[in-house]
Amino acid sequence: SASATYRPMDDASLRPFLSTIPAVPDLLGADQARWRVREVGDGNLNLVFIVEGTEGAVVVKQALPYVRLVGESWPLPLERSHYEHRALCEQARLAPGLVPDIYHFDRDLALIVMEFLSPHIIMRKGLVRGIEYPRFAEDVSEFMARMLFGTSVLAGAAAPYKGLVADFAPNVALCRITEDLVFTDPYRDAPLNRWTSPELDNMALSFRKDAPLKRAAQARKYQFMTAAQALLHGDLHTGSVMLTPTNTRIIDPEFACVGPIGFDVGAVLGNLMLAYFAQSGHETTAGARDGYREWLLAQVTQVWRRFEERFIALWRDSTAGEAYVAGLFADAAGQAEMAVERGRFMRTLFEDSAAFAGLKMIRRVLGLAHVEDLESITDPALRARSERRALTLARELVVGAASLSGIAEVTGMARSIE
Ligand code: ADP
Ligand code: MG
Ligand code: MG
Ligand code: MG
Repeated sequence: SASATYRPMDDASLRPFLSTIPAVPDLLGADQARWRVREVGDGNLNLVFIVEGTEGAVVVKQALPYVRLVGESWPLPLERSHYEHRALCEQARLAPGLVPDIYHFDRDLALIVMEFLSPHIIMRKGLVRGIEYPRFAEDVSEFMARMLFGTSVLAGAAAPYKGLVADFAPNVALCRITEDLVFTDPYRDAPLNRWTSPELDNMALSFRKDAPLKRAAQARKYQFMTAAQALLHGDLHTGSVMLTPTNTRIIDPEFACVGPIGFDVGAVLGNLMLAYFAQSGHETTAGARDGYREWLLAQVTQVWRRFEERFIALWRDSTAGEAYVAGLFADAAGQAEMAVERGRFMRTLFEDSAAFAGLKMIRRVLGLAHVEDLESITDPALRARSERRALTLARELVVGAASLSGIAEVTGMARSIE
């Protein structure tokens, strides 16, 4: 079935290809004539097909050799599909049930055949509609704690950890996108930047002149590029979560790399806060979404608290880590000391997460890639108001992370910004 040469797939080429993959005719039904192929990719980078047969459906995700959002002028390596597949395998192993099942991977075609998630929807779309997801905070926290602890050297031996660092280090092009679009471009006059203009012109300019903010952003860029704490998802926004009220799956880890843990946690928190600030643009009458706004802030709190609790528990219950060798702390004094040390470690992760959350928010308002939460607000004055509030909190998180007392201060600040 493997094909030696890459070509972008279409309806006609997908059918014979899929029919040779052992699992697929069973999943779809043998009657190939009744397979229906739809391209549904709404992302920035890849083709995504849903193939439906009489018995079921599969999703085929294929990398394109360029950035779909921008066009063929911006080439991007097909090998990102390999990192996505490799990350999905690690995630399925460490956080079973929280990613789609993988049926097949073809490295030459840069193509992954996976479970069709249904009736799941992209979380961001649910947040725009005002839907509450009772499982989300618990599931995403579990996913992050298991992945970010489990791939760190807190959980195991140096050799597999260093193997992971080596395996993902060549995902350079995708990391570079993050390095430029998250940490640098919003703070300079980059040609692909855009914002709600003229409403946010002054604020965009003031951010480009804001030396303390630029210093903090670049310090975080340095951390992102050099702190090899754990295997990150790398793009863990609410557009990479598909869910129902009772089931949560994380998709799209093509940006996976070994990096600072707070980068993933901050992505989740930052995107929840963008959804929070967008609500005033979605309510039909003022105050109609007040209850939903509070639900969103409660998720910010719960995601952080639950992540912290689960990460600490996994660490406390593990004896295999080659960092903080458990045998050194076996007695009562040692255990007490390690409890303090875990608290110190989590405090640093909290500051990292808050700062990365702020940077993720800023780039979605002033940079190249925006979010539907805000873009779907059609009245520019209304949209700009939400965006200004998001930027105000975000800047505070980036420059003031070290002086935050805790997650309650973050949600309190979000509530008090006019
Ligand atoms: P990109 O990397 O281009 O953003 P994604 O992996 O995010 O691609 O997929 C793009 C879209 O395709 C998603 O937003 C979702 O609507 C749909 N999609 C992706 N994977 C699945 C899946 N396993 N089941 C159902 N829909 C999916
Ligand atoms: Mg995506
Ligand atoms: Mg995308
Ligand atoms: Mg993607």
